Amino acid sequence: MSKLANELLNQVRKKNPNEPEFLQAVEEVIENIAPLLENDTTYLESNIVERLTEPERTIIFKVPWIDDNNRIQVNRGFRVQFNSAIGPYKGGLRFHPSVNLSILKFLAFEQIFKNALTGLPIGGGKGGSDFDPKAKSDREIMSFCQSFMNELSKYIGPNTDVPAGDIGVGSKEIGYLFGQYKRLKNEFTGAITGKAFNWGGSNLRPEATGYGNVYFAQHMLKTKKETFKDKTVVISGSGNVAQYSCKKAIELGAKVVTLSDSSGFIYDKDGITKEKLQFVFYLKNEKKGRIKDYADKFNCQFFEGKPWGTSCDIALPCATQNELDKNDAKELLKNGCMCVSEGANMPCSPDAITAFQNAKILYAPGKASNAGGVATSALEMSQNSLRMSWSSKEVDEKLKLIMSQIHDACVKYGKNGDFIDYVKGANIAAFYKIADSMIDQGVV
Ligand code: NDP
Repeated sequence: MSKLANELLNQVRKKNPNEPEFLQAVEEVIENIAPLLENDTTYLESNIVERLTEPERTIIFKVPWIDDNNRIQVNRGFRVQFNSAIGPYKGGLRFHPSVNLSILKFLAFEQIFKNALTGLPIGGGKGGSDFDPKAKSDREIMSFCQSFMNELSKYIGPNTDVPAGDIGVGSKEIGYLFGQYKRLKNEFTGAITGKAFNWGGSNLRPEATGYGNVYFAQHMLKTKKETFKDKTVVISGSGNVAQYSCKKAIELGAKVVTLSDSSGFIYDKDGITKEKLQFVFYLKNEKKGRIKDYADKFNCQFFEGKPWGTSCDIALPCATQNELDKNDAKELLKNGCMCVSEGANMPCSPDAITAFQNAKILYAPGKASNAGGVATSALEMSQNSLRMSWSSKEVDEKLKLIMSQIHDACVKYGKNGDFIDYVKGANIAAFYKIADSMIDQGVV
């Protein structure tokens, strides 16, 4: 790391000493943009790094709710409104026991860059709670969501901040959150995305992150004259992003052999078919079961741990942050993996990324490859403002175009001879857009 990068990072470390995930996300960006700052002093003179790494507003609030035994429970709610240089804050809500300020700040910081890459007018934010929706009744989830929205509603709106789903926040939670927002505000506006199609949602929003991830990987493969056809694919996670990454990879002729959850992974040597994937949709979205049930039903193997020791051509990490470390990267490389495209946010640790880049395989950071979800959310915002809706085909065409443009932006700023550094490309393309917008708007 250069002297300047180190100085800039130390400033951020000093201000945010107990936030490892946030610092990890910032470090990657600073490393990539430091050479630009050395060449063009405008950014240093306007103190852009300190301004960009300080959230515009952070809200932390109490969420009291009543469980099925009539006991009052208390969780902690958060919304990090990080940067609005390009548009209203936009980013998901995560409900998971691991949620804390560091994790939400890293997610919100990444979101600023991701949203800039989509080319759409959306700023960056993220929120959530340490509430765990697993093993809760529908009534408990509704009680929690209504209480959460009682407070959050004071800070969001279609032109201010537009939350969506993330881990633990699917269509059910979005429904309860939107219903309460509508009651409190007495208005039906697009203040939340990820809504069901019947009441203002966009066609293809559930599919968008996973499909977009595979479209991005297709573009990367094309640079090597390769495709998904007949490739073996390893996927982690079995939630929204994993399910639709799996579906699209199968449609493109790949053999997907793993899916996982926090208890372990299934290995289906024959490949997950469309029919078997229907069972995963039912298992995870309705029954709320464990992925091991897949192994029991289809008579394949289940292992505790992570799937990265499985031989594959393409790996799609789609579960959570830092789920793939240096040793996992070594295993993947040893077994011939040629392409890693992140469906999750920051699933690969920094030394895993270094290993992929040193081996010169195709590697895409989530802020580029999983941007299709938020891009489609921005399309949902447009449809809500216009009081109209587009067909799945129209949305899919727009999604494909957006993923292709993000790929082009990464190549423009990340190409070095035969090698494309997608991390550098994504960070620099987004940085120029955000930093220039901030400078245009004065001391903000
Ligand atoms: P879901 O809640 O639908 O699924 C999450 C999946 O990841 C589950 O299979 C879950 O298993 C697994 N998982 C979560 N935490 C862990 C952990 N600590 N260890 C192992 N497995 C874990 O979430 P999404 O699919 O929506 O999100 C997945 C990732 O994609 C996240 O990083 C999210 O930020 C990112 N993302 C999501 C977008 C979206 O549109 N939904 C958009 C862009 C990024 P279990 O059920 O056992 O917890």
